[in-house]
Amino acid sequence: MRALVTGGAGFIGSHICERLLIDGFDVVCMDNFITGDVSNISSIEDNSRFTLIEHDVSEKITFGGEIDWVLHFACPASPIDYLKYPIQTLKVDSLGTLNTLGLAKAKKASYMLASTSEVYGDPKVHPQPESYWGNVNPVGPRSVYDEAKRFSEALAMAYHNTHGMDTRIVRIFNTYGPRMRAEDGRAVPTFISQALLGAPITVYGRGTQTRSFCYISDQIDGIRSLMESSYNMPVNIGNPQEYDMLGLAKLIMELTGSESEIAYEPLPPDDPKRRRPDISLAAELLGFSPKVGVRQGLAKTIEYFRSKKIPGGAYDR
Ligand code: NAD
Ligand code: UDP
Repeated sequence: MRALVTGGAGFIGSHICERLLIDGFDVVCMDNFITGDVSNISSIEDNSRFTLIEHDVSEKITFGGEIDWVLHFACPASPIDYLKYPIQTLKVDSLGTLNTLGLAKAKKASYMLASTSEVYGDPKVHPQPESYWGNVNPVGPRSVYDEAKRFSEALAMAYHNTHGMDTRIVRIFNTYGPRMRAEDGRAVPTFISQALLGAPITVYGRGTQTRSFCYISDQIDGIRSLMESSYNMPVNIGNPQEYDMLGLAKLIMELTGSESEIAYEPLPPDDPKRRRPDISLAAELLGFSPKVGVRQGLAKTIEYFRSKKIPGGAYDR
């Protein structure tokens, strides 16, 4: 079996490439490094079953060999990244999705789309089941990401319904772990690097907004189980352990032994107030149940960040 993973040099994509190699796949990673880094694939780049192709998947894709799976994970994913690259984000989850679906169709390959809990926008239903259609501002700053992902889901369903393609849609809820960039702006890597540097921890708003954090190994287990299923509708994968952002900041300070201050900063527009996955479908369909609790997952992530040299200073603890 050979899988082509777009965004394979990113945070989640690199963990997928690694896992697929372990599971016996040949892996082709396609990435343009807009937010990814070659260091993410340093542990696998010498594997003879691994191939790296530098390419922007929003442009036409040509690939000579056979492919059994296309996993489309390419997309700037942190709010800072997709606000910096709004057009590229819209392109990769429209043209890029079209190109990768076209490739999968031509190769008679199965297809997985990396979708997101952002399709639920600022949800009016809590926790969020797959049956909830969401509350997205179509012209707000986050729309470049949210609407592109919603369009990608529609495209994947259209290819499934029209061409009988074997497609999957994984709705990924906030996932964290080693290989996130310290400067990518997402809460977990930002708070950890600030705490380790003794810098103020930037909590937006009053820190009452919530998220539910899934450790990367649980996310990858969920993705692999979904690949093995034959279910074509969207499936939430995440960890329902819900934290408000002030609580998350304090937990990270406790786990790092940091004495940083909390610096309250303005809440970005359209920042969802609450988010928690309803994972009953994944539990029933895939037997999915996250194994790594937030304290344990954060401890592993902190260990990773301690071992990294962070731009802007050395860690003092
Ligand atoms: P990431 O930024 O670390 O990885 C994205 C990768 O895609 C990078 O390597 C980047 O260079 C590559 N890429 C972007 N545009 C490309 C293009 N046009 N052509 C080729 N490569 C391109 O982000 P991540 O957190 O690993 O997210 C991976 C996927 O999972 C994304 O589709 C994201 O929307 C989805 N997702 C992630 C989370 C999360 O919590 N991490 C949550 C929901 C959804
Ligand atoms: N957040 C914060 N301080 C930061 C970065 C993020 O308070 O320095 C908040 C952000 O406003 C949001 C939550 O943390 O409410 C999660 O943000 P993240 O970017 O990690 O994920 P997303 O908003 O995409 O779920």
